[in-house]
Amino acid sequence: MSRPHVADLPPPAVGAQAGDGKGGASLFRWLDSWVVDPRDEAADPHEVDWVRVVPFLAIHVAGVAALFTTWSPFVVLFAVGFYAVRMFAITAFYHRYFSHRTFQVSRPVQFLFALLGATAVQRGPLWWAAHHREHHRHSDAEGDIHSPVVESFWWSHVGWILARRNFRTKTELVPDLMRFPELRFLDRYDSLVPLLMIPGLYGLGAALEAWAPGLGTSGLHLVLWGCLSTVVLYHVTFCINSMAHRLGSRPYETKDRSRNNLILALLTFGEGWHNNHHRYPASARQGFLWWELDLSYATLRVMQGLGLVSGLRPVPARILDERRSA
Ligand SMILES: [Zn+2]
Ligand SMILES: [Zn+2]
Repeated sequence: MSRPHVADLPPPAVGAQAGDGKGGASLFRWLDSWVVDPRDEAADPHEVDWVRVVPFLAIHVAGVAALFTTWSPFVVLFAVGFYAVRMFAITAFYHRYFSHRTFQVSRPVQFLFALLGATAVQRGPLWWAAHHREHHRHSDAEGDIHSPVVESFWWSHVGWILARRNFRTKTELVPDLMRFPELRFLDRYDSLVPLLMIPGLYGLGAALEAWAPGLGTSGLHLVLWGCLSTVVLYHVTFCINSMAHRLGSRPYETKDRSRNNLILALLTFGEGWHNNHHRYPASARQGFLWWELDLSYATLRVMQGLGLVSGLRPVPARILDERRSA
């Protein structure tokens, strides 16, 4: 089947349609994230578009509010499960598949996990993969937008996400993903996912309140706990950019400051073996040794057994030998 070349694809909409006022442009881009504001590229690298990041801040407020509500075993289990499913989608798909192409999937499975990844509210798969590819290109050197070596710890953790300069999806870095119209749509209208998810959570909570009051939840309650799950998911994910370049061991002498960190590896289902990953990002596996627990890789192995993914790329023997002889 022939696929269109990137050059044939319509470019993202440009500029002034976004609105005349500064706030207008930001509001419009809550919905259509591919509208380019020419001021973004010219902005100071540390300038934050505060109007644009209001939804991100609001999720944090709602997540903290959840801590002041009642809790029940059900709602805690729900928040943990919601975290786990989305952490897997981020690590195995946004990172190992979309950013690094370390295995193959069918087009429906590709879309399904892109959609699941988008429920983590960390922008669309193209935005995520493009910024991550840029990180590997410059890791801990000039041009790395979230290095805790070049920038401050907090900038590498969360500041860079708020920056006006980093808002645009760098489509030129993901030509392989740009071939798929469904991925382009999901990336461009990424806010549709949380906009549909919030009423979905509300409806589920309200239904459970009516039919299973013993579970101790309600519409608003489940929305707030869903936000708490999302906030924890945010900051654990962000720790890979901040902490995993600062704290841990360095079995490989890479050109960056990446580290292996067991606690982060457990919380992120394997991403904490970040020094391994920077040494050989082409592998689907990040825990290189038998004891380096990598839950996302183990799950991908099960999915390969079920025929859902294929061609998981291994760690070459020379890379393992390099570590043994170090
Ligand atoms: Zn890194
Ligand atoms: Zn990576």
